[in-house]
Amino acid sequence: MQVLRSIWETLDWALTQKRSGLKIGLVPTMGYLHEGHLTLVRQARQACDRVIVSIFVNPTQFGPGEDYDDYPRDLERDCALLEGEGTDAVFAPAVTEMYPEGYNTYVEAFGEITEKLCARSRPHHFRGVTTVVSKLFNICVPDIAFFGWKDAQQLLIIKKMVRELNFPLEVRGVDIVREADGLALSSRNVYLSPQNRTAALVLSRSLQLVRERIEAGERDALELKSWLRASIEKQPPAVIDYVEIVETSELKDIEQLSGQVLIAVAVKFDKTRLIDNIMVEV
Ligand code: AMP
Repeated sequence: MQVLRSIWETLDWALTQKRSGLKIGLVPTMGYLHEGHLTLVRQARQACDRVIVSIFVNPTQFGPGEDYDDYPRDLERDCALLEGEGTDAVFAPAVTEMYPEGYNTYVEAFGEITEKLCARSRPHHFRGVTTVVSKLFNICVPDIAFFGWKDAQQLLIIKKMVRELNFPLEVRGVDIVREADGLALSSRNVYLSPQNRTAALVLSRSLQLVRERIEAGERDALELKSWLRASIEKQPPAVIDYVEIVETSELKDIEQLSGQVLIAVAVKFDKTRLIDNIMVEV
């Protein structure tokens, strides 16, 4: 497995694969890998001839006062895990490689899809995401890029960006990977105290109960949202950032559930903000 640090050697690696007619799968990550990330890597391994994983804690997607400095990092451990999955290359650039002095070009998607859910409390987050992902697409030249449904809003924004900017690649979504007790895997779970780790189970449990209520025939989004809110609020120290039920093209609010529906929550447990969601076909 090659560990690539510079943009030019990565582009050279990618173009060499392409010239040999090989299909490249890209898995963009911020590192501190867990089974969720590794599931993306396995899907890339199955679908593509060459797999490249990027590891980059992207400063432009963090706002002031967020956890950029504290975000967990362990490149050596990540590389060992990726080697074990048969990854061909890791792209792990320095911040100055991606954003040299004077850097001032951004890719930004507009519309409701980038203004709701996570964007309300993280106003510049998605501009940072679309910028870094565009750069990664240009550097790694993937045929297929793999993203998790864990970050459903991010995945939908990237799919839209790829469509609208005509990036010549396919974006593939991978289902959320959970712990045996239901907690969605996240690099941020390491911040949770044992008590908060238990409290955080309220997210997956409440979402599962909402799914059951929908399966039993409930279609009123307001009713489901207020039930979900109440269920989460009952679990201290949970503080809700948002509870939303939206359609999946522009993330518009809906009153009656029909078609593909995203039920998404963001909740703080002390300083740790967790997100989770379910997708329901009504
Ligand atoms: P991150 O390192 O948090 O930026 O995540 C890198 C990629 O892994 C993103 O596409 C995430 O959606 C995906 N991912 C993170 N956690 C999970 C999970 N529990 N299940 C599936 N995909 C995940």
